[in-house]
Amino acid sequence: MNLDSMPCYFCQRNIKEIDFREAKTLEIFTSAAGKIKVRKKTGLCSYHQRRLTQAIKRARFLALLPYLKR
Ligand SMILES: [Zn+2]
Repeated sequence: MNLDSMPCYFCQRNIKEIDFREAKTLEIFTSAAGKIKVRKKTGLCSYHQRRLTQAIKRARFLALLPYLKR
């Protein structure tokens, strides 16, 4: 999936609060190794990048997302 030229994924879909339970959505914004992608790669606005980081950290804490993938 190429996120480079896309405008902010969440603004586009009118999503204000990112749901940390939506692991599938969050996973799009993590690298193959399970790391959170940088804004340059996600194409998110600063607001949503911040929200995304929060959501992913929360999801990891609740074991919905892995910290690291093998
Ligand atoms: Zn946004």
